[in-house]
Amino acid sequence: MKDLIIQKYGGSSVSDIEKIKNVAKKIIQTKQEGKDVIVVVSAMGDTTDSLTEMAYAISERPKEREMDILLSTGEQISIALLAIAIHSMGYDVISLTGPQCGIVTSDRYNKARIDEIHTKRIRKELEQGKIVIVAGFQGINHKMDITTLGRGGSDTTAVALAAALKANLCQIYTDVDGIYTSDPRIVPNAKLIPSISYDEVLELASLGAKILHPRSIELADKYKVPLEVRSSFHHHKGTTIKEDAKMEKVFIRGISLDENIGKISVLEVPDKPGIAFQLFSSLASLDIHVDMIVQNVNRNGVNDISFTVSMDELQEAIEVAQKFAFKVNANKVIYDKAVAKLSVVGTGVLDNAEIASNFFESLFELGINIQMISTSEIKISCIIDKEKGKEALKYMYQKFNI
Ligand code: ADP
Ligand code: ASP
Ligand code: MG
Repeated sequence: MKDLIIQKYGGSSVSDIEKIKNVAKKIIQTKQEGKDVIVVVSAMGDTTDSLTEMAYAISERPKEREMDILLSTGEQISIALLAIAIHSMGYDVISLTGPQCGIVTSDRYNKARIDEIHTKRIRKELEQGKIVIVAGFQGINHKMDITTLGRGGSDTTAVALAAALKANLCQIYTDVDGIYTSDPRIVPNAKLIPSISYDEVLELASLGAKILHPRSIELADKYKVPLEVRSSFHHHKGTTIKEDAKMEKVFIRGISLDENIGKISVLEVPDKPGIAFQLFSSLASLDIHVDMIVQNVNRNGVNDISFTVSMDELQEAIEVAQKFAFKVNANKVIYDKAVAKLSVVGTGVLDNAEIASNFFESLFELGINIQMISTSEIKISCIIDKEKGKEALKYMYQKFNI
């Protein structure tokens, strides 16, 4: 049997016609090496942002189902153009939307999870010698509606296909040379990590290094899919992600900044058992992922509860918090979009007192106020003013001398 390679090209790799032709040539090269190739593509450039803006220009709260129908069109444009490019170069190719290639998801719109992939169609096309181009970020649910997987979800489509078809390798092509110790666009002296384990890259990604969709790493880890992240513009080797990645002993793996979050506070909540449960179970029932939580104890039998959520879920979470506040007779709900989360990640982070001390000292030296703090075995994170985020990231990178 031939080797099967899954390649995923992100939005910046297919942002114009020249780039699409360039990607087509890269795909053909792999095919010429005698391999079967399945390609997952994202929408061109900022298409998904533009489509979202249009919807919000019409309505403050567009229907989630209709948003998925709208957003999935972005990927449909890029798969068709890429297939047209490959065909014009003389190769047999077919483009398939998520539903056409049997990607079945949960019912949840906007952040569906892939439940299963019916691989019959895709296998048939491969057997006929075709290059198969698949629309990333989308599938079909049990109601036969189109769903999307959440921003950045094309990575997850690629890894899920690699797992379902037991591909030999899944390559994620993007606009940087691989995974770095910090965002190379903000921290110019960030270093490329040649190889890294699933666990560590998951920590980096879930703390806001948007290089990979966190769910794609969970899937890659679960099904032991060998992953590579590399540039679609250069031939550099990039980063290999695998279970037993040989890593140098480091305390700090990286520093990341998440600017895509919002903070909600419910003020003057009665101080009674079961109150937090009511709020967070309502959020959980809507699948809203809450990140940091802080409760300030006030004197007169009331508390303020603050928590953070990702920006895409902010509006929904505010509505839940408002209903909750009304029900328990809290004073009011306020929110803040101008926040960011800064995190230092690594295996030794919490064992090493100096890391915590340096982390907080950096913020003090920059005169940055800390709004929330959370820690785990392998990370320290805090919420700060978004405006100061990039400056803090750069400063801390120097301070830790990574
Ligand atoms: P794509 O469109 O290919 O999916 P993304 O924009 O989703 O690309 O992800 C690539 C971007 O991730 C890079 O341009 C870079 O700015 C950002 N990034 C953030 N943290 C890191 C990191 N630690 N290593 C590499 N890139 C990172
Ligand atoms: N086009 C979608 C987005 O911009 C999915 C992706 O690029 O992975 O989020
Ligand atoms: Mg991405």
